[in-house]
Amino acid sequence: LLDPAGTPRVTIFEEITGLANKHNALNLGQGFPDTEGPEEIRQIALKSIAEGANQYAPGSGIPALRRAIASHQKRFYDLELDLETQVVVTTGATEAIAAAILAFVQPGDEVVTFEPYYDSYAAMIGLANAKHNVVQLQLPDFQPDLAKLRATVTDKTRMIILNNPHNPTGSVFGEDVLNEIIALAHQHDCIILSDEVYEHLTFGVSHVPVATLPGGFDRTITISSAGKSFSFTGWKVGWATGPEKLITAVRTVKQFLTYSSGPAFQPAVAQALELPDEFFAQFAGSLGHTCGLLADSLEQSGIPVVRPRGTYFLVADVSQLGYQDATELARLLPERLGVAAIPMSVFVHPENRQAYSSLLRFAFCKKEDVILEAARRLSRLPE
Ligand code: PMP
Ligand code: GLN
Repeated sequence: LLDPAGTPRVTIFEEITGLANKHNALNLGQGFPDTEGPEEIRQIALKSIAEGANQYAPGSGIPALRRAIASHQKRFYDLELDLETQVVVTTGATEAIAAAILAFVQPGDEVVTFEPYYDSYAAMIGLANAKHNVVQLQLPDFQPDLAKLRATVTDKTRMIILNNPHNPTGSVFGEDVLNEIIALAHQHDCIILSDEVYEHLTFGVSHVPVATLPGGFDRTITISSAGKSFSFTGWKVGWATGPEKLITAVRTVKQFLTYSSGPAFQPAVAQALELPDEFFAQFAGSLGHTCGLLADSLEQSGIPVVRPRGTYFLVADVSQLGYQDATELARLLPERLGVAAIPMSVFVHPENRQAYSSLLRFAFCKKEDVILEAARRLSRLPE
């Protein structure tokens, strides 16, 4: 967690949001929405505080939330979960990821992720003193090469981490990829950690949890979060589900990371998980709309984009505008054009940066007028 000069690292999200705030820029960098989650859900959190939900919650989460998580998995994926043994509430998906890695990965083990990868995977694999191997997702559509995946997972691999739908590329893995991951996990006796925080944010495709495919459930810890599905990123309510053996281990580690998570937010998230199907469909529809607006505008400005099939994010290639180093551009953009974005190269191993150096990630989970104004400003590139 130190940079090469020995200075404590600051995440790229902190850095770019800091620059966006300093220059009063439109923040299409850090992935958070600029509209609040449902009013009736916020009211439940307020009421819970007023009614005394202010002391420690049970370590594994309040029963109402665990029940709601289980019934959500049943409603959307036909998965049957025992709320006592197969569900644990965590302080955001981030804690679930940390607890799962610390529970199962020993020093010297190997962990396979796809690259680019969400930053916390690399940090936690590092803290577990394990080796982080990657399978690259490449243009044009950021799908993995299955032969490379087979060559990377070995008997030394303890865990395969996937993020589907995928941050930062916006790609969604097909069943062929998911089935291959399951087959490899069986062949090499490893655990699958499936980060599905964007499960409801897909455009024109449906989400398939790896745990629903044959042979998937018994080896998979599935993670999600209220942050993305309900626009409450700051509440940090997440969860892990899966077979008892795996969830018991996650819960055991979680006890010593945070012990328990915010009691006032839990009844609110329980209610949110029970919102009707239309809520989820409408939200995905409106995100798909702002995604399309941004993608169309960038393309009209001569900036090619990869159309995402899910998440908050799209990837644009700025090389045609003469920028080979999108990291440098990302640091200049807030001041120069009043827009913030995240360079893709921060989500990859340092030795692989070259392959992603001209790519920028834009978050489109913003109001339509913000997206249009950002696109207008970006059309001035390469000014
Ligand atoms: N996984 C991915 C892929 C993410 O993009 C994020 C960012 N929110 C997280 C995990 C962390 O989620 P949370 O804020 O619930 O900890
Ligand atoms: N998940 C969000 C993103 O990728 C940010 C999370 C964070 O700030 N750590 O932008």
